[in-house]
Amino acid sequence: MSYKNFPMVSKVVFGRGSFNQLGDILSPKRLNVKAPFIYIVDDVFQGNSWLTSRIPLSYDDKIYYISANEEPKTSQVDELVEEIILTYKALPSGIIGIGGGTIMDLAKAISIMLTNEGESKEYQGWDLVKKPAIYHVGIPTISGTGAEVSRTTILTGPHRKLGINSDFTPFDQVVLDPELTKDVPKDQWFYTGMDCYVHCIESLNGTYLNSFSQSYGEKALELCKEIFLEDTLSKDESNDKLMMASWHGGMSIAYSQVGVAHAMSYGLGYLLGVKHGVGNCIVFEHLEEYYPEGVAMYKVMREKHNITIPKGICSNLSDKEFDIMIDVALSLEPLWENALGKHWKKTITRDKLKELYLKM
Ligand code: NAD
Ligand code: ZN
Repeated sequence: MSYKNFPMVSKVVFGRGSFNQLGDILSPKRLNVKAPFIYIVDDVFQGNSWLTSRIPLSYDDKIYYISANEEPKTSQVDELVEEIILTYKALPSGIIGIGGGTIMDLAKAISIMLTNEGESKEYQGWDLVKKPAIYHVGIPTISGTGAEVSRTTILTGPHRKLGINSDFTPFDQVVLDPELTKDVPKDQWFYTGMDCYVHCIESLNGTYLNSFSQSYGEKALELCKEIFLEDTLSKDESNDKLMMASWHGGMSIAYSQVGVAHAMSYGLGYLLGVKHGVGNCIVFEHLEEYYPEGVAMYKVMREKHNITIPKGICSNLSDKEFDIMIDVALSLEPLWENALGKHWKKTITRDKLKELYLKM
């Protein structure tokens, strides 16, 4: 038996206002005055001086404001990498992603593609990256995905939605400042928070579970219950805890895998552009067969917070479109194997997936 030996985020700072330390954190990492720090920032913060005035800019440092309306694409990564290479005389000193999973994944992918040849679609998969990435920093502004701690960056390419999973993907530095999440809209708070909850349920109920994953998954689940089911926390406390739940949920799947909800949600994301958080919710509503307790608790949380989940999104799809979603979902074999064991193909047929998709 050979065990996976995987890297973790090398440095992390946690605390309200820790974002103010960014300048001190970055300055020793500046390679020279020609090698800028490039900030990839969610455009929801454009014009928001509360945040942007604290981004430490000097020399040729630059902020790229990027919309998170669509999830990251391989073509988008390749365009940004080309622009950076053409604009600067030297490779950047670092790439800093400030935003949710969309922006953090973009930052990770750009830092990898600045040092690796070819197009990013060639690296979608497991352990295909050859050279270390540029120094990269993740600063979440919404909690739940675990992208701040994970070994992957999920990209939609021409043929599939799949991560660049590699030892060079994790951030070198993460800044966890829960204050940055204070203005997240309620629905989005729930959707992205449920991504974390679903990570816990899929990891804790998976066949890949070991004590490493379990210890992180149980902690994250305990925090999710406190945040989404109880009324004892102030908003600040709740945001602090959700940031740590996200971290633990991400750590839990590092050594295991996600499961049925993620496999099916990737299908919705690829075909219909449904975003990850809400996509997981849409799917999870109908998975009581696989996760009875997890789905029941999810429904209590959804009702308690009065959240509406889109319905009927698959009702007008053609057979060809169902086939595309089913192909994407079925291609994620490790997810199904984790969820249902080695013989998953006996129960997960194309008809079964179509029946489930039709309910959504
Ligand atoms: P997101 O990054 O798309 O952000 C959701 C919305 O919230 C956006 O409209 C964004 O502008 C807004 N937002 C973010 N911070 C805000 C703030 N502080 N105030 C107000 N609005 C704010 O969503 P997400 O759920 O964080 O990330 C989803 C992405 O993460 C998907 O692309 C998914 O594939 C990826 N993901 C990656 C991993 C990983 O391990 N790499 C894991 C799970 C999901
Ligand atoms: Zn997820």
